[in-house]
Amino acid sequence: MLDATSTRDLGPRIGTPLWLYLASTTVAGCALLGVSVYVFGVGRLEQLAREPLVWVTLCMVILGELRPIATPHTGSEGGAPTSLPFSFALLISYGLPVAGVVQAVATVIAGIARGHAPHRTAFNIAQYVLAFGGADFVLRVLTPGPVPVPWVPQGPELLVVALATAAYFITNLVLVECAIAMHERAPLHTVLGKDLGQRLFVNGVLLSLAPLVVVAMAHSVWLVPLFSLPLVALYTSATLSVKREHQANHDELTGLANRKLLIVRTQEALADAEQRKQRVGLLLLDLDRFKEVNDTLGHPTGDRLLQTVARRLTHSVRPGDLVARLGGDEFAVLLPQVRDAASAREVATRLRVSLAEPMRLDGMDFDIEASVGIALYPNHAPDFELLMQRADVAMYVAKERRTGVELYAPHKDRNSTARLSLFGELRRALVEGELEMFYQPKVSLADRRAVGLEALVRWRHPQRGVLPPEEFVPMVEQSYLMRSFTHEVMEQTLPRIAHWRAEGFHIPVAINLSARELLDPTLPDIVAAGLRRHGVSPEGLRLEISERVMVAEADAVTPTILALADLGVSLSLDDFGTGYFTLARLKGLPVEEIKIDESFVRRSVADPDGRVIVESAVDLVGTLGMRAVAEGVETEAVAEAMRAMGCHAAQGRFFAPPLEAAEVSGWLLRNLGRGRRAEEPSGTV
Ligand code: C2E
Ligand code: MG
Ligand code: MG
Repeated sequence: MLDATSTRDLGPRIGTPLWLYLASTTVAGCALLGVSVYVFGVGRLEQLAREPLVWVTLCMVILGELRPIATPHTGSEGGAPTSLPFSFALLISYGLPVAGVVQAVATVIAGIARGHAPHRTAFNIAQYVLAFGGADFVLRVLTPGPVPVPWVPQGPELLVVALATAAYFITNLVLVECAIAMHERAPLHTVLGKDLGQRLFVNGVLLSLAPLVVVAMAHSVWLVPLFSLPLVALYTSATLSVKREHQANHDELTGLANRKLLIVRTQEALADAEQRKQRVGLLLLDLDRFKEVNDTLGHPTGDRLLQTVARRLTHSVRPGDLVARLGGDEFAVLLPQVRDAASAREVATRLRVSLAEPMRLDGMDFDIEASVGIALYPNHAPDFELLMQRADVAMYVAKERRTGVELYAPHKDRNSTARLSLFGELRRALVEGELEMFYQPKVSLADRRAVGLEALVRWRHPQRGVLPPEEFVPMVEQSYLMRSFTHEVMEQTLPRIAHWRAEGFHIPVAINLSARELLDPTLPDIVAAGLRRHGVSPEGLRLEISERVMVAEADAVTPTILALADLGVSLSLDDFGTGYFTLARLKGLPVEEIKIDESFVRRSVADPDGRVIVESAVDLVGTLGMRAVAEGVETEAVAEAMRAMGCHAAQGRFFAPPLEAAEVSGWLLRNLGRGRRAEEPSGTV
């Protein structure tokens, strides 16, 4: 039976239009049943109750009530009941009172068995009685004169039965769909349209069996149960196909809609909103730091966490809204009708609040936070693709500004808009392989030989040309793309290291690690697996960690740094001199190289005070058993000054700019000599 109050048995609030509607329908249905029983005569009903026919049919109706045939939109709770052939047969043979009473009894029993709330069962009974009433009315009007009881229609009378069937279907449909439309606050015609063909077909098949049941009843009541066989076949195949359709459109883990269904529903909502000049909202929600939970506590715990998140999200939206999981820890919520931006914000806030309460799993409490980006149709985008991209951009702003919820705003700031739309493209860039590593040599100041390389990332943007890291690495850091980014950097650099080492260039190649990467507790595993996969020994790799990270996040990143050092890779402190870091704090950390920031280098040449500071810093570096490397060396004079101050090596355009991977071997050959083990004679830096 189609159900108006959806799967949750929460009745509507008293006094709302939906409540009034459900209450008045229930009262009308029950009144109609009472009156028809009264007119028919209770005595006649009692007489009928002594015959096995009523009891056999009642059993079939109860079983049928428990096994409704689902359609994709209604689900099994709202499907067409396989009791229909039997109850409708009673209606044809004995009229409304008998069919109504049997149906009412069956609905109560099935309602109890399925745990339905009483108000829901009462509405279902009324719904049946009114729909049967409609059919009964057609039968009476179109068959003038008294008909025998039980009536077995024949010849042209079957046409009347067909019309009665149509009356039942239409009355039932309108009764339920009005309630659903009010419940979901959607216009009636959009609700009516859902699965209409399929519902017509299923109800048509079930109702067409009714006259056959009537004939069987007239012969022998014991023929009636035989109808269960074709019904079981129909039920099984329908259930299977709905299950398949469900699988294709839903996420297996959480049972939420998947991207495919989200696209379809959004497109439907957009078409609808265009006609009615209304707004559609698309919310994109990303859990903050979920990956850390997943990686530290394992996937099964992560999965259960996602299921809890899915449940909480589903319970925070209105009926008619759609919650989808797009993969990983990314969710989307479609609001097919949203009044304005403020209402969309309200929903977004509600979603965040629903996740704010700690989640208890395996006896531990997890705090999950989420960032939500909102985009509205038609304000921000005309179609799904763009809506999604805009919501993504807004979500990124929410993450970056740590505001939790952001509405897409195209004109806030031109610069940031350009940057933000870039973020939308970053995801694609990673998939399409638009990121490329360049390699800048580090050169010994004593003999001008190459002693190392630093891998520096670039984005070959199809329209905007080659973009430097500062235009996108901070974005990567703030987003869920961090892991894929690290993976990409490693997967490009490690094979190159293997290749150069095979060519005889045994100098370490450094990659840069941002704070976010270092906060990932699985980083050492990722690095170890990468080294193994590409057959690179740990001495071949060096990791550069910025001084800023050491100042801001020392405690959080130290375990990761120690674990990385345990692998045998060497560490380098990058950008020294930009923060207020004291080298003494490095004690205990296996750092081999200090890279003196370009700004510091420049100052040391320009003013005498700067020179003293750098000189003492370089001195201290040596005392602590580390080596100093000057960054951003652009002239011979600076290179010479840095050498005089005691720096071991330098890096900068004076020696070589960041080189494309293919140019590196040639450059090294000119500046190192093949087969030369740079580490030994000229000293590793
Ligand atoms: P960094 O690690 O300090 O890199 C050195 C920067 O100095 C590079 O900028 C390099 O191109 C630049 N440089 C080279 N020669 C000269 C010179 O003669 N003068 C001056 N003024 N600068 C010079 P780039 O490539 O733009 O990288 C900027 C920063 O982006 C890097 O600073 C690093 O922190 C970050 N970065 C680069 N690649 C990656 C990466 O793959 N992953 C992560 N997490 N960060 C990266
Ligand atoms: Mg660096
Ligand atoms: Mg640096």
